[in-house]
Amino acid sequence: MPAFSQADAPVGRYPPAGVDMQLQRLSDHVYFVQGEAGVATDNEGFVSNAGVIITDEGVVVFDALGTPSLADLLLRKIREVTDKPIVRVISSHYHADHIYGLQVFEEQGAAVWAPAGAEKYLRSANAGERLEERRFSLEPWVNETTRLVEPDRYIGVQEDFALGDVHFTVSPVGAAHSDGDLTLFVEPDRVLFSGDIIFEGRVPFMGDANSRHWLEVVERMEDQQLLALVPGHGAAAKHPNLAISTMRRYLSYLRGTMSAAVKDFIAFDEAYDAADWSEFEQLPAFAEANRRNAYQVYLSMEAESLSD
Ligand SMILES: [Zn+2]
Repeated sequence: MPAFSQADAPVGRYPPAGVDMQLQRLSDHVYFVQGEAGVATDNEGFVSNAGVIITDEGVVVFDALGTPSLADLLLRKIREVTDKPIVRVISSHYHADHIYGLQVFEEQGAAVWAPAGAEKYLRSANAGERLEERRFSLEPWVNETTRLVEPDRYIGVQEDFALGDVHFTVSPVGAAHSDGDLTLFVEPDRVLFSGDIIFEGRVPFMGDANSRHWLEVVERMEDQQLLALVPGHGAAAKHPNLAISTMRRYLSYLRGTMSAAVKDFIAFDEAYDAADWSEFEQLPAFAEANRRNAYQVYLSMEAESLSD
């Protein structure tokens, strides 16, 4: 009987992705693929990153990309490097651009881990509506066979595990960028997968994030000595501590200026125009995101001032 590996599996289960996807090696055990810049429906939905950690005893995948077709392509890339089983897929958070590929790894027998809080998203009307919307906007890659995957485990407290000679630390950080986020630290490589907690080299989209808690999480990250940091979007940070401190300064500046304005009963427009954005206005996505971020923080500072 000829050997048959997953890499030879016939195309057809999922519509093949047409994007260029390179599995980049970061360290001894750690690889990742980098999505393109753009909105969630650009580039066939390949706008977020995924990590792959290969050990002697199996493979751990971090985040599952925005369509099953992309995850299927990632699986083929993994199979070019190793035939070890995919034992676990760990989701940084449940947002559409990171989760629709989960079913591909679940079908491989991988256990699905998600941060506590993801159940809030899964139970929400938003989850189903977003999937319906993506069946149009990412057709044919998101289609009737695409489904929301219920995790095998919700991770609520820090959890360490070993696989082969690699040590993994899964750290749930609560509701920071989403209803529940987690990060993954890989030793001995000293690589941190931050999910969307860190946006490298650009202004983040705050969405409905809790900026107070997000800032606390980023402050704690600054203490780790990292060799590399893989964000949820964009390139791996060559200077992880710089990426983290830029994020910390941005969140802290937003909160500082907006809370001062709220305290002094200054209207948002006036406070925004008076703020000095020179440290951040060179960053990509500043024009698209900064004003909305500032307004979101302004509103939450108002709410915080009422609840304190
Ligand atoms: Zn994202």
